[in-house]
Amino acid sequence: MGTWIKETDKAIYLMEGGHYRQKIDKSPHQGEVEGETFFRTEVLKEWLNSDEPPGFFLVSAGTDTDEPEPLPVTPPPVSPSIRFTKVPALVKIYHPYQLAGTASDDLVGETVSLYVDNNQTAIATTKVNDSKQWVFQSIFLAVPKPQLRRLKVVAGQVTDVASLTLTPYIEKHPGAKKLALSASVGAGGANRASDVKRVRERLVDLGYDSASGSSMDALIRAIQLFQTAISGSTTIRGDGRIDVGFSTQQFLEAANAPQWMRMPGQGVGFYNVEVLDQPRDTHDYGIDWISNVIRAAGIHYELAYRKNRSEVAPIAINDVSLPNGGKTPDHAGHQSGNAGDVVLPRKGGRFGNTRWSNANYDREATEEILKALRAQPWVNKGTLYFNDPVLIKKGLCRKVSGHDDHIHFEIDVPPKID
Ligand SMILES: [Zn+2]
Repeated sequence: MGTWIKETDKAIYLMEGGHYRQKIDKSPHQGEVEGETFFRTEVLKEWLNSDEPPGFFLVSAGTDTDEPEPLPVTPPPVSPSIRFTKVPALVKIYHPYQLAGTASDDLVGETVSLYVDNNQTAIATTKVNDSKQWVFQSIFLAVPKPQLRRLKVVAGQVTDVASLTLTPYIEKHPGAKKLALSASVGAGGANRASDVKRVRERLVDLGYDSASGSSMDALIRAIQLFQTAISGSTTIRGDGRIDVGFSTQQFLEAANAPQWMRMPGQGVGFYNVEVLDQPRDTHDYGIDWISNVIRAAGIHYELAYRKNRSEVAPIAINDVSLPNGGKTPDHAGHQSGNAGDVVLPRKGGRFGNTRWSNANYDREATEEILKALRAQPWVNKGTLYFNDPVLIKKGLCRKVSGHDDHIHFEIDVPPKID
């Protein structure tokens, strides 16, 4: 069922139907205006960023409306037993997910352990609360392809099992689509009108807007950009033609066809200097594969290192590619949306405008950024370029001229998923 938000005089509620799932109490504000209240926004952010964000926001403050009641508790099963009541079918890597369930009366206060894929060690434990319920909040780290995960909860002598599918994607994607081409499309192709239309529509769905319109040259350039992305090259290549049944068509139809998009501005653990601070420099675009890596590495860096430290810079992303890819005077590569740059963290939490030999360069944070990138299965470990000799000695990066003030990274082509 869809959720919505209700604001009353006392609190902000995450509503489901006529009941609330969660609430944030307002506190009196010690300001100059009498009667003002305020609330902290962390929990509100979680609601808005959840997989089923609230559909609308109803302000009932000042209307004397009754405060809503909490959702009725699912009746617990007969004892002694434990049961999953909430398991998401699909979980994205690095997205927090929640598992919940109930237990019988006699298990109140008992420890519940969660096991994944028959491992001997529980990945988390919690307790059955006084309402005979239990909840796990967890996160899956990097995986290279969608995988089924088997879950088991154990409390005392009783167990329950469930499963979910874990996907390597974070960005939204239009998914797989069969094109049913009758003949080749693009440079030197048969270019039957119905085939051309299908290819244009699919490319536009995937964000290659330059393929719309009627220009065959623009379509060919979009096909080449796509072919370059699926080849893993950072400089434009490809014949610009889709031959029926061959690799370009196969990847164009795939569930993980690379989609062209503006890179994310900021998120957990990262900040995109290029997108947010440099409006005249338009190297803001790339494929979702690299965007997924940026988001995943940011969360990884945050969880592994930055979380409990004050004044540590985020991963600061700089150039990826131009709005329609292709050659750029600023870089040798960076033509096909699969290579990115990171400017260096400085001591004290700022970033950029420094190099590895400067006193304000934060080597410890840089080491953790490189580790967060390397933890991603899609990051090409051989093309991490950065010239700090200490980090090179640790095997984290490679020396290439021109990389004293930034890290360059590239991504591999993931396995095609139908
Ligand atoms: Zn670069």
